[in-house]
This record gives sequence, C-alpha cells and structure tokens, in this order.
Amino acid sequence: MRTILLVEDNEMNRDMLSRRLERKGYRMITAEDGRQGVNLAVQLRPDLVLMDMSLPVLDGWEATRLLKSDPETKPIPVIALTAHAMAGDEKKAYEAGCDDFETKPVVLERLLEKIRMALELEKRDGRY
Ligand code: MN
Repeated sequence: MRTILLVEDNEMNRDMLSRRLERKGYRMITAEDGRQGVNLAVQLRPDLVLMDMSLPVLDGWEATRLLKSDPETKPIPVIALTAHAMAGDEKKAYEAGCDDFETKPVVLERLLEKIRMALELEKRDGRY
C-alpha cells in the first residue's frame, strides 16, 4: 500500500481529501502546517506528498524547498495544491521543486492520475 502525506491547513479540505484517497486505497498521513509536513516527511518517508501552498508556519513553497534540498527526502514526489490558478504560481511551485501541480478545488480523477503518474515515474527512475 502506498502512503501519501497530505499537508493542508484547512480541516474540511484535509478530512475530505484524505477520506477520498483512503477509499482509493492509499494510506494517508496528514499535517496541518508546513513545518509539521516537513517533520513527518523526514520521519515517515511517505511515497508521495500532496502539498497545499498556502500554509501557516512554513508555506508550501518553503516546505517543498526544504524537502528537495535534503537528499533523504528529495526523491519523494511532491504535488503542489493551490487555490490560485495563476500561471505564476505554477512556475513558482516548479521552481520550489514540485513535481506536479493541481489547482484547487481538486478534481479527484485528475489528481488520482497525477498521483499514479508521479508514483510510476518514481518507480521507473529507481529513485528509491
Ligand atoms: Mn491553505
């Protein structure tokens, strides 16, 4: 079973997305802010991180930069979640090291496809 770390400060979004992905067969870990997200990723090594960008304590860009600058967590794919559908945000997410990008509100089927793709690439590259 693949483990996904969902870093999302909005409780309703966090619970809803977490439940939907659990129903699709993923084991879910959740964090409420960027700092907690980084700590859990380091401790628990999830297979993938879904990272909200607008987060307290440490925002998603900064948290992703930290994960991607640590050789231990660098291989973990990070999919950015953002409410802002602006092109600049997508660019900013990739610059921070995000592997993919999903605009909120999340479209489940589209997000699942991105998750499957990121996990496949990670496996094929033999990054672990
Ligand atoms: Mn947020």
